Amino acid sequence: MATAASTELTNHGSAAICRGCWDQMRVPIPIRGPLSLPFRAFGITQSKMNPNICTICERSFRYVKKQRHITASATILFADIRGFTALSERIEAVRLSEIVSLFQDQCAQAIWAHDGIVNKQMGDGLMAIFNFPIATKDHASAAVMAALDIQRHCAEALAGLDATLGGMPGRTLGVGVGIHSGDVEIGEFSSFRSDFTAIGGAVNLAARLESQAAAGEILVSPETAAQASGLTIGAETRLLVLKGIEQPVQARVLAKI
Ligand SMILES: [Zn+2]
Repeated sequence: MATAASTELTNHGSAAICRGCWDQMRVPIPIRGPLSLPFRAFGITQSKMNPNICTICERSFRYVKKQRHITASATILFADIRGFTALSERIEAVRLSEIVSLFQDQCAQAIWAHDGIVNKQMGDGLMAIFNFPIATKDHASAAVMAALDIQRHCAEALAGLDATLGGMPGRTLGVGVGIHSGDVEIGEFSSFRSDFTAIGGAVNLAARLESQAAAGEILVSPETAAQASGLTIGAETRLLVLKGIEQPVQARVLAKI
């Protein structure tokens, strides 16, 4: 149970202390303001995964959890730019990097606004985790709200770019999103990377859903939809046979507003 003081410290859009270290260890690590300066001198700064967590919880997973990996309940979100590969054959590299950074920026803002972290960025795609290391009670809804923000903000930003791409066939750019909630393994799984990630069947399902999402669509697994029922009720359902997943999945389809 958080005290009134800790709630005050952690309950803001931009927290004074690391919300990851607080939620996982109940240790207050200053990441903003004068108290953060001595920590910065030791290389402890805001994480690029989310500015409200620090580089300790990003890179010292074993120190934070005292284990190499843990099983955690989380919601995983994948997003990517649909049609990017085809586009990359037609336009110059400088424009491509403009599109990618616009997409990554819009996604990160939406994910951070709902306390998720951008765990991996893969060019025209990304993977986000909700409920670790920032504990989020309704992480399924947080992820769905982030996805709706991603679709809204990317549609506006990409439409502006579309206009300047001028007259190219198939130039309409859009984003596809897949979301699934379940138990994942979180930890450091690579000997040459020091930051944590999530692996497991639940991560694969989120990735597979994203691969089936058309531009402007958010495909939500039944597990996420049940937990975020207020946001998914009445949404179209679509039965999907997904590569590597034994049973067909009855996904909910949320389209951009
Ligand atoms: Zn931290």
